[in-house]
Amino acid sequence: MYVRPKKSLGQHFLHDRQIAERISQSISDNTESLLEIGAGTGILTEFLLEKDIDFKTIEIDSESIAFLHKTFPDIKNKLIKGDFLKLNLHDVFDKPFCIIGNLPYNISSQIFFKILDAKNRIPEAVCMIQKEVAERIAEKPGSKTYGILSVLIQAFYNVEYLFTVHENAFTPPPKVKSAVIRLTRNSVQHLGCDEALFKKTVKATFNQRRKTVRNSLKLITGNMSIPQNRFLSLRPETLSVSDFVELTNFVEDILS
Ligand code: SAM
Repeated sequence: MYVRPKKSLGQHFLHDRQIAERISQSISDNTESLLEIGAGTGILTEFLLEKDIDFKTIEIDSESIAFLHKTFPDIKNKLIKGDFLKLNLHDVFDKPFCIIGNLPYNISSQIFFKILDAKNRIPEAVCMIQKEVAERIAEKPGSKTYGILSVLIQAFYNVEYLFTVHENAFTPPPKVKSAVIRLTRNSVQHLGCDEALFKKTVKATFNQRRKTVRNSLKLITGNMSIPQNRFLSLRPETLSVSDFVELTNFVEDILS
């Protein structure tokens, strides 16, 4: 039985078992519950099934699902057929759980936004993604690649860039290199500003990253006058997470 790789589902199947094992070992030893996103043909799943933990995996592709049932008879109650982006996470685990996966690259940003929405239930995530996206997420302020995902994720997670994976490790090989990153929930429970406005401020400034913060803030504040502030003449990529928190409180004061 063979699964025909479907581009529309971001199917680049890993065939290097050593890399799959390394990814499976990158999740903390004390993990009790684990959800894999996109089992595919199960190269990573096989290592995860060996772990003595509460394990589930979700896959959207019927052909892969049939293959997984045939190859791993023990997967029966652990395999969910469906779309991770539509999944009600409370239906999967009623306690905190970690995430692992060689993600479909075409929806990796949406997956990270969903992880962020459930951040208080997800203490750790180990994900293989496009190398460029991994670098962006792990990037510190001052760099050209530092952006929306870097700020939003780093506000709540410590990010580690673990290792790079060559395109030849996949069938079919993607056009770009890949990398594995680990997100570990930090201790921040409350950012110190309104979270929805924080997101809005980060997005508004980076969506016009060549403009100064003053210009981009007008998208949120409209015609209201903007008092002096140390961030206004800067570009967003120079602001740290705590700078964005301060900026968000400044915006909130203008709006109130
Ligand atoms: N884990 C396998 C591996 O390492 O070879 C497959 C990885 S492949 C890059 C991504 C997998 O995610 C594919 O099997 C694809 O069908 C699945 N997938 C794509 N979109 C999905 C979604 N929205 N929900 C769940 N799985 C999805």
